[in-house]
Amino acid sequence: MNGNLLLCRSRKRLAPLALSVTLTAALFTLVSNPAGAADLLIEQVTIVSPQHPGAQPKQNVLIRDGRIVAVSARKLTAGRDAIYIDGRGRFLTPGIMDAHVHFNDAPGLPMVENDATLKSLREAYARQQPRSYLYHGVTQVLEMGFMPELLAAFEAQPQHPDVLRCGGTVVLGGYPTVLMPAEFRIRAVPNYIYEPANAAKHPLPAGADPAQHTPEAVIDRLAADGARCVKIAIEDGFGADSNWPMMSQETLKRVRAATRKRGLPLLAHANAIDTQRIAVAAEVDVLVHGIWNWNEHSADEGVPPAIAEHLRAIHAKKIGYQPTLRVVAALSDLFREDTLKDPAYAKVVPAPLLQWYATPPGQWFKEEMRKSVGGVPDMKAMHTFLKIGSQGMRAAKYLHDLGHPMLLGSDTPSAPTFGGQPGYDTYREMRMLAQSGIPLPAIFRAATINNARQFGLDKDYGTVETGKVANLLLLTANPLETVRAWTSIDRIILRGDVIKRESLAAARADSGTTATR
Ligand SMILES: [Zn+2]
Repeated sequence: MNGNLLLCRSRKRLAPLALSVTLTAALFTLVSNPAGAADLLIEQVTIVSPQHPGAQPKQNVLIRDGRIVAVSARKLTAGRDAIYIDGRGRFLTPGIMDAHVHFNDAPGLPMVENDATLKSLREAYARQQPRSYLYHGVTQVLEMGFMPELLAAFEAQPQHPDVLRCGGTVVLGGYPTVLMPAEFRIRAVPNYIYEPANAAKHPLPAGADPAQHTPEAVIDRLAADGARCVKIAIEDGFGADSNWPMMSQETLKRVRAATRKRGLPLLAHANAIDTQRIAVAAEVDVLVHGIWNWNEHSADEGVPPAIAEHLRAIHAKKIGYQPTLRVVAALSDLFREDTLKDPAYAKVVPAPLLQWYATPPGQWFKEEMRKSVGGVPDMKAMHTFLKIGSQGMRAAKYLHDLGHPMLLGSDTPSAPTFGGQPGYDTYREMRMLAQSGIPLPAIFRAATINNARQFGLDKDYGTVETGKVANLLLLTANPLETVRAWTSIDRIILRGDVIKRESLAAARADSGTTATR
């Protein structure tokens, strides 16, 4: 059924002749599986799973109908026509959950319609995007619920991670729609909230019913649409722009009450000390960004008292925290000479898109970001962003040291930067957490059980245990020993289907195509 299964070593066993007919029949009843696909039995594998403090060698894992049905150090028996994987020398982990992604446009493309070149690049990206997540071992994504029209395109791809989604809402005229051309704003966030306090500048669009755009009506609609959480933005602007419309305190209170009533976790975009304080005071459930804009508290090293106090408040209120270190790093990467030459890019970025990034039109956002930091040369611009990013890294480490569990979210793509790419950024987020001084076991938990628990998914995901969805990874190195283990993925197991990693890589450019760089 699945072509990838053919890549897997299959072996037939001879029936033991000594068994009596009755015993054989009983055994067959126990293990046969006439309705579903063939069993998958992974033998003699080392399990690395967050419920165990260390690696568990020589385990056998039986998978049937997309779920784990047995885990044992004793020999397990699979059904007829089972697929066997020799797990010796391999580490079996839960698949990674990236709890902050957007099925936006391709990273780095301007929001312009009716352009044939951009259209074909978008289509190439849409085909590769889910595969790029899987290529990097991401078997579950939590999508933030903006641009709902792009969800179906992601799920229509034959191979894609399990999709869990939030519902996004925003006050009319607020971030992120403030950055979009007018014709995209309502499409991007149809479930916007009408904020009467902002009405003079941001009136209700003609024909819209204000009763449909109250906090309560919007949250009810998102819940009915199947959202597992609600994401809002507490953002008044970046740099010189700091007068974007925000939710009033009253609206924020109503959003909090409506999400509680519906049992939906409330997620907040906020990454500066002033806006994160608003989010913490409002008792949101998860901050979907770390704090890197320290404003008047900015410092080249350490964590100043005001930031430390804020981080202690996050810990005391048990608010979930996604450091999203890649957001600022993906901006600094615009100015790195080697970004587009990184061999990992060719694995996740379709060749025509990679070539387009290097052309002058592909550099538009880089030039926009350069202007935002005073029009400085590449190296200076890169260092400006690296410095902001290092504040985010220090904050994450400080919070970890308080004993706060981290959540993994890459926020791909966080901006129209070619510096952020699906899957690869999930890996690079883990690598940056490690570079921040956060120990590998804590990063492993962030990517697996912490994310599953935070979003109420731990019945299905987060560990290698009987009953869970068989979204698993076979690695050739132990992720508790090196973060690079996440680049040594041998197979991805998606609901029991075995996928060889290289089959997910973006197609290479035709040999006849001339690269533009
Ligand atoms: Zn985001």
